[in-house]
Amino acid sequence: MQVTLCEDRPILTPCSLEGINYQVDTYVGCEHYCYYCYVLPQAETDWSKEVQMHADIIERLGRQLESIPPQTIYLGYHSDPYQPCEAYCLQTRKVLELLQQRGFSATILTKSDLVVRDLDILQAMERAAVSVSVAFNDDHTYRLFEAKTIETSRRIEGLRQVKAAGVKTGSLLCPIIPGVTDAPALLERLIPVADEIWVYGLSFSAQSDQSWQNTRDIIRRHFPELLEQVEQVVFTKGHSYWSDLAKNLEIIKEKQNMNVHVYV
Ligand code: SF4
Repeated sequence: MQVTLCEDRPILTPCSLEGINYQVDTYVGCEHYCYYCYVLPQAETDWSKEVQMHADIIERLGRQLESIPPQTIYLGYHSDPYQPCEAYCLQTRKVLELLQQRGFSATILTKSDLVVRDLDILQAMERAAVSVSVAFNDDHTYRLFEAKTIETSRRIEGLRQVKAAGVKTGSLLCPIIPGVTDAPALLERLIPVADEIWVYGLSFSAQSDQSWQNTRDIIRRHFPELLEQVEQVVFTKGHSYWSDLAKNLEIIKEKQNMNVHVYV
């Protein structure tokens, strides 16, 4: 994997997520290369070979932070802050150190357990939170859809360590692929380690999206009997598959008295 420098661009950018004003993408591009990724159609490099990072991220972000009061910054919107190259590039760790020194906090979304490395900084922040995204029940299927991520079991174990360290945890159960993802079973596994859970189905803006073309090819090769059903469910607004699933998940949520948000 080649890690190059991106062209000069703002590092601190507005964030549309509820309750969060700003985000930082510590990398441009994502080595995890999930074939369904919503950012993939806008990729600036071939993520299987090259991702980019910002030059002088600390100096430049430090200046940009001077114009806003301390608050929570989101990491993980357009790329994973703990993709494999973070182990030696340390861009995310340096950003967290800067945020903590300036009195800011962070809320992180990742598919990696590398976040456990930075618990020392997250524990020193007020209101830090870490969410882990999962979509596959077994430790084999995920490899078909997410080229370079780690197993679901390792992600859940990482989240368990985050929770044990006293940092708020969450999980994004996403994307639910009809016939492939056993969402109720995954939800049951996440409940002991996640303080809050968000559930989203597989969705694309159009059938021409590169991310749908990738996903369709994987389903055609490995789950040919599901292809027609998946295509119908994903591209039919209000399909009964989603309403039936939502009802099942709501039953689990009520039974476990959990903070679960279902958006399927
Ligand atoms: S980890 Fe997130 S940003 Fe990275 S490829 Fe997967 S879905 Fe996209």
